[in-house]
Amino acid sequence: MTAANLGHAADLGHFDVVVVGAGTGGLCVAIEAADGGASVLVVDKLSDVGGMLHIANGEFSGAGTRRQAARGIEDSPERHFDDVMRLSHGRADRDLVWQTVRAQGDTVDWLESLGFDFDPATPGLVHGHEVYSVPRTYWGVEFGRSVLRVLRRRLDDVVASGAVRLLLGTRISGAVVEDGRVSGVTGTDADGREVVARGDAIVLATGGYDANPGLRNEFLPPGCENAIIACLDHATGDGLVLATEIGADVSRDGFFIPVMGLIPDPDRQGFAVDYREAFVEVAPAYRTPYEIWVNRDGRRFVAEDGTSPEHRERALLRQPGITMYVVWDRAIAETAEPLIRNGAGDWTRERMLAECERGRWIVAADTLEELAERLGVDAAGLTETVERYNAAVDAGHDPEHGRTTLPMPIGEPPYYALTSVAASLLSRDGLRVNGDLAVLDRRGAAIPGLYAVGEVLGNNVFAGDNYVGGMSVTPAMTLGRRLGARLAAERRTTGQGIA
Ligand SMILES: Cc1cc2nc3c(=O)[nH]c(=O)nc-3n(C[C@H](O)[C@H](O)[C@H](O)COP(=O)(O)OP(=O)(O)OC[C@H]3O[C@@H](n4cnc5c(N)ncnc54)[C@H](O)[C@@H]3O)c2cc1C
Repeated sequence: MTAANLGHAADLGHFDVVVVGAGTGGLCVAIEAADGGASVLVVDKLSDVGGMLHIANGEFSGAGTRRQAARGIEDSPERHFDDVMRLSHGRADRDLVWQTVRAQGDTVDWLESLGFDFDPATPGLVHGHEVYSVPRTYWGVEFGRSVLRVLRRRLDDVVASGAVRLLLGTRISGAVVEDGRVSGVTGTDADGREVVARGDAIVLATGGYDANPGLRNEFLPPGCENAIIACLDHATGDGLVLATEIGADVSRDGFFIPVMGLIPDPDRQGFAVDYREAFVEVAPAYRTPYEIWVNRDGRRFVAEDGTSPEHRERALLRQPGITMYVVWDRAIAETAEPLIRNGAGDWTRERMLAECERGRWIVAADTLEELAERLGVDAAGLTETVERYNAAVDAGHDPEHGRTTLPMPIGEPPYYALTSVAASLLSRDGLRVNGDLAVLDRRGAAIPGLYAVGEVLGNNVFAGDNYVGGMSVTPAMTLGRRLGARLAAERRTTGQGIA
């Protein structure tokens, strides 16, 4: 949009920095920019700040921290960098990874100085993704909400001081471009009024696109289109769309690695049951597996007790419909720790048994044939698989997949099964930026005035074709802080706005 057709929009004023999105990254940009003396406008389309922190595990990583030192853990940003490049199979962006990991330890210490409620077990090794070589992952007692609590407190301070104006319920949908420079954004406020805000720097911190299946599927490799959505609804890729409309370049790496254990929501086609309510614990480090996992042919496809998350995630991607069925029986239900978990830890065995009867997500049947029919799984395949698995339990040896945890056979009806589909919760592709987080156009040149931080960059830059512990939340915070501080400093240096 140009200045000429803005006449009717309500003018929100001019700021040194306009931050679009008050989530993980945007809050950090705003706090540091305000602390550095900049005038800041923060706009979010929702009625509350925090973005994905409301649902995220909020595990963050950083090397050389005070908490590591206090526990005698030797670590360094160089070692963190090497781990990230190893776990990302060398596919992460070396420059951006180094820029963030070298300062992530400082982000951890900063959170500590803000009174962050660390889980006492941190720093730890996290087994939901491939593990780091040393404990350098941290989380709060309330997961992502712990991060949000301290960021919100700091935001309240800078809003109270007048350095930040916070505008909620306002969806930004366009950029103002004047003389080749992005000088503002346009959108619609909570009352349906069109608004325009101007700034020397416009920062897109709008998060990912995974809750927008049409857009997400443009980036997923073929065969992964029915991955269920496991993030919050705001992740519709707005910043990515806005920037591409004015010529920004977007990565198209075609990587996808799913999150396992999410349950399709029967009331919301294409979405997962809220992670905070229930998911299937698939990591053997956290729960001994008693069940088997089969595909639509009724066949097992991986050792259920394998310790490599990446190995099992890639195995799931090769199954028809990227779908698996977890199968167990009454005896297991009465013996094993609850298969279903959540962050609150309130899935007891009793609750699990009640859920088996309730039938929301769990299918029950008196025979394996009936179970297979209800699931849409090949009955002969399932029956034969269970027979072979039971023989493996008897023999104490699983020749097919090498599973070594073989606690009990599956043979006591009723039989139970739960469907789990590969899930997407984190955008892999995103806006291309340079080392200053300036958004690049399709010729590789920085678009003046436009910056981006957080998941709008896509996770591939920080994790390649894998998941790497904390490498989404922490770069959003760390590079967000750095960007905010730099934009404020540049304003001071030039005395006339950001060059
Ligand atoms: C279940 C789950 C668990 C996770 N666990 C971890 C983890 O343990 N560790 C980790 O590193 N990562 C994790 N992640 C990923 C991580 O939470 C996100 O990548 C990160 O929080 C994204 O931060 P962000 O600031 O880029 O975006 P968000 O936090 O999503 O914030 C974006 C903000 O922009 C606003 N917005 C969007 N469009 C507009 C618009 N048009 N106008 C105005 N405002 C707009 C949104 O309302 C939102 O508030 C997890 C994700 C999920 C879903």
